[in-house]
Amino acid sequence: MTTDTMNAPVSAIEQLQLELPDLDWITDASRIARLSQDFSWFSPVLKRQLENKRADVVVRPRTEDEIRRLVSACVERKLPITIRGSGTGNYGQTTPLAGGVVLDMTGYNAMCWVRGGVARAQAGIRLGDIEKQTKPMGYEFRCMPSTYRSATLGGLFGGGFGGVGSINYGPLAAPGNVLGVRAMTIEAEPQIVELRGAEALRMHHLWGTNGLVLELEVALAPVHPWLETLVTFPAFDEALAFADKLARASGIDKREVAFFASPVPDHLGQLSDYLPRGCHAVLSLIDECGEETMSEMVAAHGGTVTYRRTAEEVQKSNRTLIEFTWNHTTLHALRIDKTLTYLQSSFTPGQHVQQITEMEKLLGGEVMMHAEFLRNIDGLLTCSALQLVRFTTEERLDEIIRIYREHGVRINNPHTFIVEDGKAGGALPPEIIDMKKRFDPMGLLNPGKLRDWPVVAA
Ligand SMILES: Cc1cc2nc3c(=O)[nH]c(=O)nc-3n(C[C@H](O)[C@H](O)[C@H](O)COP(=O)(O)OP(=O)(O)OC[C@H]3O[C@@H](n4cnc5c(N)ncnc54)[C@H](O)[C@@H]3O)c2cc1C
Repeated sequence: MTTDTMNAPVSAIEQLQLELPDLDWITDASRIARLSQDFSWFSPVLKRQLENKRADVVVRPRTEDEIRRLVSACVERKLPITIRGSGTGNYGQTTPLAGGVVLDMTGYNAMCWVRGGVARAQAGIRLGDIEKQTKPMGYEFRCMPSTYRSATLGGLFGGGFGGVGSINYGPLAAPGNVLGVRAMTIEAEPQIVELRGAEALRMHHLWGTNGLVLELEVALAPVHPWLETLVTFPAFDEALAFADKLARASGIDKREVAFFASPVPDHLGQLSDYLPRGCHAVLSLIDECGEETMSEMVAAHGGTVTYRRTAEEVQKSNRTLIEFTWNHTTLHALRIDKTLTYLQSSFTPGQHVQQITEMEKLLGGEVMMHAEFLRNIDGLLTCSALQLVRFTTEERLDEIIRIYREHGVRINNPHTFIVEDGKAGGALPPEIIDMKKRFDPMGLLNPGKLRDWPVVAA
């Protein structure tokens, strides 16, 4: 060491590491860069805005005590903290805008307990690891993202919406799905608080800006032997009508129904043996005992079953159609055509088939329809879409969003990193602001993601 380096001032980040040498620090520049990003590159807008943003250091605590000491030391130095699960979020949710510390929660990953249809676990556990433990007991997630293999429980709560299973249970935010959270305040003396029910949901989908979640308690669903199928159709209307009929068939238990209008199936390269070019397709997971009834519906709509795997076959192969649904469809399509991007929208229950048909007529060719059937937060059956878009300019993307909105379809803009402009859809309600003030009084959590909290630079 030279005299110069010995006398160089120690940065706040270096002080942090000196104070907490027993923590698992990641200081390698390329790993920091990788752990500062998520899947925001799906959006050309976010890619441009966030590409070079990164943390100064990443830390992976393993115990509540390590998390508490880290938070306290960061608060003393007013260092921003961006919480990260597995980084599969889509809106730059885990990308720090102001440097500081990325707090990687994946080392904090124990299952606490499973009792009847309820599970409690530490926030950094992967969803797939939870199901490995609950499935032998007859339970699975009520709703989970198609990224369930890698996504964490805390990440689902902090940045996710729902997904597979939402056709029965609605989004994660529907009452009864999340029962409680144990959360830590971002203060010099961190407080640990158990929040139950509706109060717990005030921390949901706020991108880690208003509390650090340590544990989550979620209600589970009974496991069924899910039959995975692809059904193809020559006509858009028949494919959509079949998907809607299957989704509405209350006598058939199901976990997933997705509709892919042509040419979306042409972009699912790994399934090309089962998806003839130019077809429209419906992907589903239904209880095996509903197969005969579904076959009648397929015949009535002129469809062809091109892919069929029993629950046992799926389990043995460890390959599931789930990883072609929700935003996995977008991921597969982007692998084939890098010029594509996507949108996220919610249709009006009862009008969803008509609205999807109308939007296809208006924008087909430029916007390719991929719709997912689900219950909304009030329990009504409808569709969410994750349409593929042939990207030309940011102005045209805004115009497409405007056209959708003018036709009564809600767009949850995936091309923004500001919470209020994305799914939150406007100003935050007072109870969420109160939560922010209570759990993050200095505004150190993921600064820059909430419009009214200024960025604190590291
Ligand atoms: C291919 C693909 C498919 C997807 N499919 C779906 C889908 O079907 N449904 C869906 O909802 N989403 C989907 N997503 C988005 C994402 O995968 C999910 O939201 C997932 O649950 C995020 O988990 P994660 O651990 O990767 O979270 P991260 O991306 O690491 O974090 C997400 C947000 O949660 C915050 N956070 C993480 N842990 C905590 C914690 N302990 N306390 C407080 N805040 C925390 C982070 O700060 C961040 O803002 C998809 C994304 C991709 C790339």
